Amino acid sequence: MTETFTGHKGLELEVPLLFEEGSYEKSGVDMPAAEGVTSRLGDLGADEAVELPAFSEPQAMRHFVRLSQKNYAIDMGIFPLGSCTMKHNPRLNEKMARLPGFADLHPLQPTSTTQGALELIHELQDWLCEMTGMPAVAMSPKAGAHGELCGMMAIRAAIVAKGEEKTRTRVLVPESAHGTNPATAAQCGFSVDKLPGTADGRVDIDALKAKLGDDVAAIMVTNPNTCGLFERDIREMADAVHAAGGYFYCDGANFNAIVGKARPGDLGVDAMHINLHKTFSTPHGGGGPGSGPTVLSDALAPFAPIPAVVKDADGFHIVESASEGFEQNFGRMVAFHGQMGMFVRALSYMLSHGADGLRQVAEDAVLNANYVRVRLAEEMTQGYAGPCMHEALFSDVWLKETGVGTLDFAKAMIDEGFHPMTMYFPLVVSGAMLIEPTETESKASLDEFCDSLLGLAKAAKAGDKERFEQAPRFAPRKRLDETSAARKPVLRWTPPLSTEAMAAE
Ligand SMILES: *Cc1c(COP(=O)(O)O)cnc(C)c1O
Repeated sequence: MTETFTGHKGLELEVPLLFEEGSYEKSGVDMPAAEGVTSRLGDLGADEAVELPAFSEPQAMRHFVRLSQKNYAIDMGIFPLGSCTMKHNPRLNEKMARLPGFADLHPLQPTSTTQGALELIHELQDWLCEMTGMPAVAMSPKAGAHGELCGMMAIRAAIVAKGEEKTRTRVLVPESAHGTNPATAAQCGFSVDKLPGTADGRVDIDALKAKLGDDVAAIMVTNPNTCGLFERDIREMADAVHAAGGYFYCDGANFNAIVGKARPGDLGVDAMHINLHKTFSTPHGGGGPGSGPTVLSDALAPFAPIPAVVKDADGFHIVESASEGFEQNFGRMVAFHGQMGMFVRALSYMLSHGADGLRQVAEDAVLNANYVRVRLAEEMTQGYAGPCMHEALFSDVWLKETGVGTLDFAKAMIDEGFHPMTMYFPLVVSGAMLIEPTETESKASLDEFCDSLLGLAKAAKAGDKERFEQAPRFAPRKRLDETSAARKPVLRWTPPLSTEAMAAE
């Protein structure tokens, strides 16, 4: 493809780094020099300029808006990343989150002035407990992985309280698990023991039972699992681990598929994080923000972290220390109470859907995934036979003879205007492609997506390798060296040499 001379194209401008674009010599604002002011810093004041690039307001706006044009977003089209639940974020939620009574609070304000916000947190707690059938919830974790840490720390605290910390050291994690599960177990000082799967993509219950013993602290199981399948033996798994004296951590990131249909509390779960940013549509991606409230069973509730919002006859309070009912708390995970903006958005989403609407969320998410599964199965090989829950999993078996790999196929999707699906995860399926359309895509949008993928699949099978090897041809950046980016990240910008310094070299 012909490049332009400047790198600009299609009304999009190339964007240099902020540091390359702005100049140190200028100032973005005109202010008269302060006169007759002596700095109270004495010799501690900086004697050199900090060398931040200076921008006027329109320059700064343009820099960031141009960058944002290079970003893909759920507001631009389907974002089929499996496991991530990239659904539409209703604008009503945004409007609620921006109400000054929520947005402009300071976490250290006296609670007499924040009763409305505390009531909102309390009400959200009630909804989460109701939907999951669990007696308690810790609101402060700030992401799914942080919620896992919360749940596993509660499990560890319960084990310590029983005096079993020396013996209960092993955690069983299925081989298809999200990487955060073994990472969390290891972070909490447990050893990780891999659970094999069955040929139909689920946990092998017999293998699980064979691994149980006095040294097992917990199992960590995702349901629906990372292959997009419901773990049918979940109740039996829970009973078996409880009989062995261990706890059941459920990764609740896929709650979108079962909200309003099944309650984790009825399935024997002891702890489960809920990704508000996935199931309850608070915007995420690019590293945040997130929110991972963690529901806890009666056995773990006493160990929940502080702070906690409680209600009594005088109103709402924040429990900040080991006090009545919170003597055994395992400590504090964050400075304050969690992600207020995410709480507001999630409750707004729940209230606008209502109980019946939330059930329909799960039904439509599963329907959409199965629609995609059946349409794409015309050309692509399913990871596991049969219907799926909220995400459709394909392997690269159908690509085997074509010389095109999962990565090439995903990159070619970019040229067609679609963000790729999750690739090479879960690890149990060769060259995995995991597609999660979510309930917020229309049939028209799903058809457009499926037509495009089927077209690409046919091109791959017809031997049009070049189209794939060179993809993406139309993106502002082509194939990146992802390995070097991960192994040798450049985290610091070094200013180019000044003219004098260059002359001196
Ligand atoms: C997203 C996800 C997590 C981690 O959640 P974060 O909010 O990204 O930390 C854990 N497990 C599964 C299955 C997930 O999909």
